[in-house]
Amino acid sequence: MDAKLRGALSRRTFLKIGGAAVAGSTLSLTGTLCQKQDESRIKEYRTLGRTGFKASDISFGGDPATTEVVRYAYDKGINCFDTAESYLGGDSERRIGKAMQFMDRSKIFITTKLKFGMDETEQNITDRFRKCLERMQTDYADALSIHAADNSQIVKHEGFHSAVVKLKAEGRVKHAGLSCHGPEEEGEESMESVLTTAIEDGRFDLVLMSYNFLNEVEAERVLAACKARNIGTTAMKTSPGLIEIETFDPDNPTETQEYLLWRFEKEGLSKKEAIERIHDTLKDQERIRGKIVPFAKKYGVVSNEELRKVCAQWVLSNQDMHTVCITVVGFKEIDMFVPLSGTKVDQAAIDFLNDFQLAYGSQYCRHGCNQCAANCAHRLPVSRIMRYSYYFAMQNREKYAMGKYRELGEKNASLCTTCEAPCTGTCPYGVNIQANLASAHSLLKLG
Ligand code: SF4
Ligand code: SF4
Repeated sequence: MDAKLRGALSRRTFLKIGGAAVAGSTLSLTGTLCQKQDESRIKEYRTLGRTGFKASDISFGGDPATTEVVRYAYDKGINCFDTAESYLGGDSERRIGKAMQFMDRSKIFITTKLKFGMDETEQNITDRFRKCLERMQTDYADALSIHAADNSQIVKHEGFHSAVVKLKAEGRVKHAGLSCHGPEEEGEESMESVLTTAIEDGRFDLVLMSYNFLNEVEAERVLAACKARNIGTTAMKTSPGLIEIETFDPDNPTETQEYLLWRFEKEGLSKKEAIERIHDTLKDQERIRGKIVPFAKKYGVVSNEELRKVCAQWVLSNQDMHTVCITVVGFKEIDMFVPLSGTKVDQAAIDFLNDFQLAYGSQYCRHGCNQCAANCAHRLPVSRIMRYSYYFAMQNREKYAMGKYRELGEKNASLCTTCEAPCTGTCPYGVNIQANLASAHSLLKLG
């Protein structure tokens, strides 16, 4: 990013930050963005560190709804795809693999990821990876990554490294990588600590990390270390906030609201109770919306989509980040983000993001933080629950988010409703932990 512009934001990162909730329209922040919306192909490719691959600056990740979505991304010039064994129960790999049959394999870069603990064996890692290849109908993956590495021990998992060495020798994988969200449970290490260990280890060629204008200080230390070792860098979680909330008209619900109503009623709630539940969920968001509207209008950023684009553009402005991995569900995300390729934030965008920090600092739970978990009476994984809420509200991944939340079992945010909340005041950013978790619970508990 332009040093002056980045400096302008950095000087204000001491200010409290934010990201809250709400729904909206589709105005653009700047003339630059308006113009770029007509440019529908990838315009910039950056070298992905020592892999040498020229990656599209916008890359593809997540849960494609169909194979056609993946092909559409490729047709737009996206050549870097990130998936995982766990995404959509393997369907993400299957859909990408099916689409791959229509691509020039030598011109795309596919990363898949495996999540495992220290007790996982080399043989199982190898076997699981071979199944990834089968699902993707390909002979090799460009990279195999440790999925959501949350401590330094896993980074040094000898079974993983040994498997990679052998798979490389067989031509089944070319590079090793890892993804890291930062800590999600009490006592886990920071993203910086885990990634620094990985970088110094020397065996990783790629990192996938959280990077946004609210975690820039920590993330940019990691980026500097990657640069020194020529490690490829991919950004995720680039959009840390919301501007709009969806208004709720029970007679004319949105698709998501319709789904929620259906789920609530399936759970045994009456129609009236289901409607009240949704109104309750939106209450806090509406309060925030009252604060944001004048501010958003000033900059002409009045929709979540525009916020997501400005945030992604902020990340794109830093050449040390080689590609921005967009969570893609449908064609919409591709049409939203591809026009940003090759662009960078201008002063208006910087001013907007600074004001956003000022206005919403106390609303956003930083990805991978979890500093407050030790103060939770029930040792809840605060950051993780809020991340699932982010998946639900920001990434249109409602089912996935609810499924992940269900995996927490009884250790969930329902405990907040009867708690005296010793966590109050322990977030250094001023997040109201109890209120946010209660809100997350009402969103996620349906799964
Ligand atoms: S609520 Fe605050 S302290 Fe707790 S995880 Fe989120 S940002 Fe960190
Ligand atoms: S209110 Fe929730 S997050 Fe806070 S201490 Fe109680 S259970 Fe933990």
